[in-house]
Amino acid sequence: HLRRELEQVRAESLSDALTGISNRKAFDAALERVFQACEEQDTTCSLLLADIDHFKKFNDTFGHMVGDKVLRFVGATLKSWVKGKDIAARYGGEEFAVILPDTDSAGACVLADQIRKAISSGKLKNRESGESYGRLTISIGVSQFRPGDLPADLIKRADEALYTAKTNGRNRIEHQL
Ligand code: GH3
Ligand code: MG
Ligand code: MG
Repeated sequence: HLRRELEQVRAESLSDALTGISNRKAFDAALERVFQACEEQDTTCSLLLADIDHFKKFNDTFGHMVGDKVLRFVGATLKSWVKGKDIAARYGGEEFAVILPDTDSAGACVLADQIRKAISSGKLKNRESGESYGRLTISIGVSQFRPGDLPADLIKRADEALYTAKTNGRNRIEHQL
């Protein structure tokens, strides 16, 4: 009984309470692990950093409860698109991350664009009133592991790519080699 409870506490400490996907702590640990594998087995990995477009306006217009629902929707969509060893996480606030072991930036960009399209084609509305919340979009930055990288380097390049995606008009993906 105690062991089961301990396992549950551990699982809770690694998952995001709102969306149920991995939290920042789990993300950091997973990225360390994947980096080690890249170095030891001479493989690669890629990272997606996704940020909801104009989310503040969404919150201001429809309220935080609806904003929270949107975060759950994005978390669930990410989860449904990743598989195997991939790790989808809530990186913070309205930012999400996906670690893709054994994946180069070309493969990562394909997945990123599929996720982007899946989000923008979903129709969000109030279940009771039928009120439409309009279109939801995300921007995604992609980066690929380079030998000698630290986790922070990969995150920095994905973040720069994300910034480029925002300045280039949002609802798009960009990658930084
Ligand atoms: P951009 O397209 O440039 O990303 O614009 P933005 O409005 O999404 O960016 P900004 O960083 O200005 O706003 C992020 C908003 O995310 C502000 C904050 O209220 C909201 N947010 C962060 N975490 C949560 C949360 O847990 N729940 C809700 N409802 N909102 C959140
Ligand atoms: Mg943000
Ligand atoms: Mg945003």
